[in-house]
Amino acid sequence: MQFHARRFDNAAPVSVHIDHGRIDRIEAVDVEPAVAALWPWIAPGLVDLQVNGYGGQEFSSGRIAPDDVERILRRMDAFGVTRAAATVTTHRPEVMEHAVRTIARAAAESRDAAARLAGIHVEGPFLSPEDGPRGAHPRPFVRPPSLDEFHRLQDAARGGIRILTLSPEYDGAPEFIAAVVQTGVLVAIGHTAAQPARIRAAVDAGATMSTHLGNGAHALIPRHGGYLWAQLAEDRLVASLIADGHHLPADVLKTFVRAKTVDRCVLISDLSGMAGLAPGVHEGELCRLEILPNGKFVVAGQTEVLAGASVPLGQCAANVVHMAGASLAEAIHMASTRPSRWIGLAPGGLAAGDAADLVLFHLIEPGPTGGPPRFDVQATVLGGRVVHGAVSR
Ligand SMILES: [Zn+2]
Repeated sequence: MQFHARRFDNAAPVSVHIDHGRIDRIEAVDVEPAVAALWPWIAPGLVDLQVNGYGGQEFSSGRIAPDDVERILRRMDAFGVTRAAATVTTHRPEVMEHAVRTIARAAAESRDAAARLAGIHVEGPFLSPEDGPRGAHPRPFVRPPSLDEFHRLQDAARGGIRILTLSPEYDGAPEFIAAVVQTGVLVAIGHTAAQPARIRAAVDAGATMSTHLGNGAHALIPRHGGYLWAQLAEDRLVASLIADGHHLPADVLKTFVRAKTVDRCVLISDLSGMAGLAPGVHEGELCRLEILPNGKFVVAGQTEVLAGASVPLGQCAANVVHMAGASLAEAIHMASTRPSRWIGLAPGGLAAGDAADLVLFHLIEPGPTGGPPRFDVQATVLGGRVVHGAVSR
């Protein structure tokens, strides 16, 4: 397979040759700039560490079947996402066990599912019970950390859990975190009301990420002290950010990216299982939610309390360029190579020998009303195979 594109990192027009699932070679092409400007951008496939479901199906469900898992993961092809972490959120223990068992079964039985899965991300149930930090995680199912429960979940997942998001505000959290990290699972801090000393103790114990920093937090916080600054200033923590235009205002997003630095930021979509449905009111398994005409997901009946996200990762990357002043190369780094490296996958690249997991896209500039460019996926290549769109048109 051979096609033309522009590199995301230096805008060079190139001819890309793919053979046996790998990039065979990438050659510079001497072409008029006006011609190259019509070619798609090419970048390593995007890696989304937080996808809760899609098209009306949550991963965190007592009814999910392996086919559903595969279908959700395949829906990511259209977004240029070549790897996604299936995210299971707070629920009754038997529901969470069913969910992770089903995801593991899908990966064991389907090559298509396994190729797209970046592991299981368990967000909860060991989160803050406080309103605000708890976010949309149901209060009755939030509970203090239990190593027994973690091991039961990991057994049900056949070892497939790669990320555990928890709040370190509980007594004994550092010991719990150290024990989980010891098993090779990455621990992230999220949905927390922990004081700075507990944040630091969690990092000392091995936590390495802040999950969707700035969300799952109190609406009002003291101007000094607290969990937000403690995580922003902690260089041992990478921050995942929801740059969908609704979860973080532009000023906050830009400040976070500048404070953490590009290399400590990872973009996530946090896609809701209701993402992909039409605007209107939908009955979720745990609450009624409404999709507003502008794509914002809220708890039904009002317009401010967010109930999830619906903007795919590529658009979040385009938003970071627009809202935070990042370069395209930096935005793609935050949405692809950086999350790959953090989770321990081989980071994608555009060199001979790199896996041909690629996204080809156009950035469609907005009209006179302004706003971010639109991330328009032309094609997604996974293991050297075109799984969405067409590489030439
Ligand atoms: Zn969350």
